[in-house]
Amino acid sequence: MSKKISIFWFRRDLRLEDNAGFYYALSGDHPVLPVFIFDKHILDDLEDKTDARVTFIHRVINQMKTELEQNGSSIKVIYDTPENAFNQLLDDYDIAEVFTNRDYEPYATERDEKIHSFLKSKNVRFNDFKDQVIFEKAEITTNAGEPYKVFTPYKNAWMEKFKSMNLDQYQCSKHFSNLAKTEALELPTLQEMGFEETTVEIPPLKFKEKVISRYDELRNFPAQDGTSRLGVHLRFGTVSVREAVKRALKLNDAWLNELIWREFYMMILANFPHVVDKAFKSKYDNIPWRNNKADFEKWCAGKTGYPIVDAGMRELNTTGYMHNRVRMIVASFLTKHLLIDWRWGEAYFAKKLLDFELSSNNGGWQWAAGSGTDAQPYFRIFNPYSQTDKFDKDNTYIKKWVPEYGTNQYPEPMVDHKDARQRALDTFKEALA
Ligand code: FAD
Repeated sequence: MSKKISIFWFRRDLRLEDNAGFYYALSGDHPVLPVFIFDKHILDDLEDKTDARVTFIHRVINQMKTELEQNGSSIKVIYDTPENAFNQLLDDYDIAEVFTNRDYEPYATERDEKIHSFLKSKNVRFNDFKDQVIFEKAEITTNAGEPYKVFTPYKNAWMEKFKSMNLDQYQCSKHFSNLAKTEALELPTLQEMGFEETTVEIPPLKFKEKVISRYDELRNFPAQDGTSRLGVHLRFGTVSVREAVKRALKLNDAWLNELIWREFYMMILANFPHVVDKAFKSKYDNIPWRNNKADFEKWCAGKTGYPIVDAGMRELNTTGYMHNRVRMIVASFLTKHLLIDWRWGEAYFAKKLLDFELSSNNGGWQWAAGSGTDAQPYFRIFNPYSQTDKFDKDNTYIKKWVPEYGTNQYPEPMVDHKDARQRALDTFKEALA
């Protein structure tokens, strides 16, 4: 058989520089063949065949392929299940080791356990590394060794531990001479995988330094260009979290705080996996949701008659993005004003958001429903009108997304704010008694 190689398996770490696992693979004993698997288990579940995330990944892999080919190598891209893909790879290559970065979502950990034991049975070593977070689930704990359940003490412990953290870049390109030499390899087209190019515009990878440095002032106003729009890049690893944290330290503490929220929710998901389909606080599983389908459809379509809610939902439906302040408002509206199960809203966001991240989405929805970690008490219900007065005073955001607002084309509010608020208070009070 031909010469032994190592595989580096890319997943949600789609970059060739400052990538921990890739760096260790390249510094190892064997030439490294990069691999990416378009996982049929995941793709088959996507209803929208123009899903922007698939286009995004496809484009990024294509760019990586070009760069790898400029270095005499390429990337092996497989459209199949990971199990079949590794079977095939072992048939085609003499593989000594597989390297990858750890991924903490339930599906991913289960997948990795399977692949790990399969490789072990074939005498192939599986090496995984921390890359997508600064601290993993067991690195920040209380003095008693328990995971934190509340953000602020978690954040304080994170900051303390961070003082001794090294954020040096993993200089992968210095070791590109250890890439496996190969002809250019084929990349399956989107069409071959049953998908089409999206028309959604994907925010470019760019640190908007001026915006980030004023993040604390600007972040709450949806009409402003006041947030980084790096969500999709953090989700798929086109930017390294170490690089983001380095910039945050230089630019704005409030922005660093958000990156810590990201890790907080990842830690919650990894330590308390029941949150995937149950309330973090179990008594909230007793809420008798109304779950009216027609109401849900109005919310999805942005036709509730509450302009700030409708603007948010239309922004989401058109762009795959919604401003954080508005995510909180629409989530509160669905779970409180309409008494619809937070899981319905969570699933809708999961389909639509370019930056969809199971942990943050789940955390955000449970926060809004009051069932999560740092819950706002259930009796603090967002008032969409006063939220608009505070954060979209001139209706600039509303007018952008709801052009018929103020005309007779715009629907009446689907529920009365005062009545809906009272209904939510009564329902929650009784269920939690
Ligand atoms: P910025 O505001 O510039 O923040 C920088 C980065 O910090 C974000 O890209 C994200 O990685 C992280 N971050 C910011 N705010 C939060 C937060 N509250 N919780 C966790 N991480 C945060 N964020 C997601 O990344 N994926 C989701 O699926 C998601 N779903 C949400 C659902 C609801 C109901 C709510 C209320 C919030 C959700 N968020 C989610 C958090 C937040 O709304 C987005 O991260 C943010 O709006 C993305 O915009 P940005 O890229 O400009 O990030």
